[in-house]
Amino acid sequence: MKIVVLKFGGTSVGTIEKIKKVTEIIRNYQKKKYKVIVVSSAMKGVTNDLVKKSKEISGNFSDSEYDVLVSSGEQAACSLIAARLIHLGIKSRSWLAWQIPILTRGFHKNSRICQINKNKIVKYLKEGGIPIITGFQGINNDDRITTIGRGGSDASAIMLAKFFKAKRCIIYTDVEGVYTTDPNKLKRAKKIKVISYEEMLEMASLGAKVMQPVSIQDARLNRIDIEVKSSFIKKPGTLITRRSNIINNKIITGITSTYNDAKVTLIGVKDKPGVAASIFRPLSSNSINVDMVVQNISSNGKETDLTFTIKNEDLNKTRKIIVNNKNINFRKLLFEKGVSKISIIGVGMITTPGVTFRMFKSLANKKINIKVISTSEIKISVLIDKKNTKKALTALHKEFKLDK
Ligand code: ADP
Ligand code: ASP
Ligand code: MG
Repeated sequence: MKIVVLKFGGTSVGTIEKIKKVTEIIRNYQKKKYKVIVVSSAMKGVTNDLVKKSKEISGNFSDSEYDVLVSSGEQAACSLIAARLIHLGIKSRSWLAWQIPILTRGFHKNSRICQINKNKIVKYLKEGGIPIITGFQGINNDDRITTIGRGGSDASAIMLAKFFKAKRCIIYTDVEGVYTTDPNKLKRAKKIKVISYEEMLEMASLGAKVMQPVSIQDARLNRIDIEVKSSFIKKPGTLITRRSNIINNKIITGITSTYNDAKVTLIGVKDKPGVAASIFRPLSSNSINVDMVVQNISSNGKETDLTFTIKNEDLNKTRKIIVNNKNINFRKLLFEKGVSKISIIGVGMITTPGVTFRMFKSLANKKINIKVISTSEIKISVLIDKKNTKKALTALHKEFKLDK
């Protein structure tokens, strides 16, 4: 069977008009003799609204009930798509994850798809039907509904492509593909024709919302090529594939920024083995995600300063945990909201010297102060004042010739 998996994001099914448009895309693949599997997210804004409601009901909303609640948006979107196809005379029906089933492992709110039962869907495809499958949700060993992390319909699509051995997996969204940086933040951003899993994973993890990071891990592990393209404009998009398929002469492939980070600094921490673990253990057990970490070398062997970043919304919780932590001693605790992490990403930097210097120099030329730095083999991140985000993106985009 020549199977194609088509995934539509919330922006693509955000209105009734858009849903009608999406069904035209689906119909075209059927005309080209593909067996089409559709995955849909909830209509734009619906999931956010459900999350908001959960917070209003309880500051400590049950994780398993959260999954039942927030996964409900996908059900409505899938039914609307299926019913429109039926209206057009096409055989179609919606499938909730548990009806297939799509099995997941792991914790509520953050599960991973581990198995998809193919039987019912294969039978339905053979009968000429188009299954419209809810993204983002699954079912666990205890028959409880699970979700797979915000933006998770991307991963649903990749895993469906894997289990059904699809010829193509296409992610339809509201932009024309993956850009050198968020095209909604920088007009000059350019569409990338092809990008490696590794670079896309870094970009996604560092703020490029266009793809969910887990989905790229799944695609890389299973060698699934992903096409990202627009639901509204008929133009070639971006191919996400293995590195050996790519000839690229750019040093930097993309730039990302975050907008809701906060910086925490502990001054004069008593320096002894195990102190960093004592600071981070309670943060981790409270599900606070710590990102950049810098520790100064202590000049006298007794005290050190430690800085790290977290999400803004975790600031109050973090403050309480540190202040109540009996296992650490420090002189002063500082917090700074309104910081942004800017990252440049590219496999080209492995073989090109001087990239770090060029990044720092171009920020210095714009009088942008760097607060924290962190690097990996294919990315360099700096923390700056949030108000300088656009200026930094513009300068770096130009410095690394991404405008061209
Ligand atoms: P969907 O509803 O289709 O899942 P998302 O909102 O999750 O769409 O992702 C699309 C958005 O990702 C775009 O509207 C864009 O603003 C944002 N984005 C961030 N970084 C990038 C990038 N490098 N390339 C393309 N889009 C990006
Ligand atoms: N509707 C879910 C969310 O908003 C999943 C997705 O969009 O992929 O996170
Ligand atoms: Mg998305």
